[in-house]
Amino acid sequence: MRIVDIRERAIPLEANIQNSVVNFAEHTVSLVAVVSDVVRDGRPVTGVAFDSIGRYAQSGLLRERFIRRLLAADPDAIAADDGGIDPEKAFRAMMRNEKPGGHGDRAHAVAAVELALWDLNAKLAGEPAWATIARRFGVKPAARMPVCAAGGYYYPGDSLGRLQDEMRGYANLGYRRFKMKIGGAPLAEDMRRIEAALAVVGQPGHLAVDANGRFDIATALAYGRAMADFGLRWYEEPGDPLDYRLMAELAADYPHRLATGENLFSCRDVDNLILFGGMRRGHDLFQMDPALSYGLGEFVRMIEAMEAAGYSRRDLHPHGGHMIALHIVVGLGLGGSEAYPGVFAPVGGYAADCIIDDAGVGPGSSPGFGLEVKADLAPHIADLTA
Ligand code: MG
Repeated sequence: MRIVDIRERAIPLEANIQNSVVNFAEHTVSLVAVVSDVVRDGRPVTGVAFDSIGRYAQSGLLRERFIRRLLAADPDAIAADDGGIDPEKAFRAMMRNEKPGGHGDRAHAVAAVELALWDLNAKLAGEPAWATIARRFGVKPAARMPVCAAGGYYYPGDSLGRLQDEMRGYANLGYRRFKMKIGGAPLAEDMRRIEAALAVVGQPGHLAVDANGRFDIATALAYGRAMADFGLRWYEEPGDPLDYRLMAELAADYPHRLATGENLFSCRDVDNLILFGGMRRGHDLFQMDPALSYGLGEFVRMIEAMEAAGYSRRDLHPHGGHMIALHIVVGLGLGGSEAYPGVFAPVGGYAADCIIDDAGVGPGSSPGFGLEVKADLAPHIADLTA
């Protein structure tokens, strides 16, 4: 099997909302298609993936470095034993001549291509990606992905009533766990927002809050103390993603669950979180996102580092809220992920054949990540692969 073409297109995210740090209206995503020389039903078998939500497309990096290097690689050097492409060998070909460290946008660019290879391999095997992933890593897959409806952003002309209507809407869609933003308003106002959301959600153990890395140590501690009596589900990304001292000091002060890691893009960064972040075993959550961090190979190395340090893969809830995270959580037996109902189209959300119930989201039966059957994403894929 040979790769005959790799295409990329930046597509816009539909989201005029903001968290404590960024507005998503300008954000774009790199949609990538890896075209193979295998033809079925008159069309080349093509792997499709994207980098994750909350960043920008990496069109330049992909075109100038990573797509070029992969297309130039010796086909035999990146071939898998079973006939597809070996994503790990392809990763090494893409990372040729790259220095260690500096895991920024390059990690997202490489992830989009690496994940497209997993989609391609699953399609060649005629099975959903979760099945390919579970077999490759020798894991018993989960049946469903526990999920929380992530929302509660700050909207133009926001109100407590709007926030409550939003949470009610998620409950009506079948969601039983929820997440909302904090840190985009003064502390007292954020506490009123949490109380308003809890009036709809009911149990505090069903509502998580996310500060998106906004706080310094003093503010993170102040929020932790103000929220301690709620007993919320978790308190996410209180400070800068690389401020491990902040996490350790907060973990020593805040009794309930903390969560972080969505903005750590390499295994070495996760090693440092484990060593210095004070993450409590069986209590705090990790949230690294394979679509931001070089793809599945590096993500599995992160899981191995967690497990070697005594953490469970069930304590890993990757950031994302998209089809790729769904297949990876199910295939690797992780703890869960999130959903962004109604925002971040066309990348966020699940295809119509992914059923949501009290146990979470179930992947459909389409080959690969099933991106082609997601109605709002399908036209972009058709356009890219035409
Ligand atoms: Mg977050």
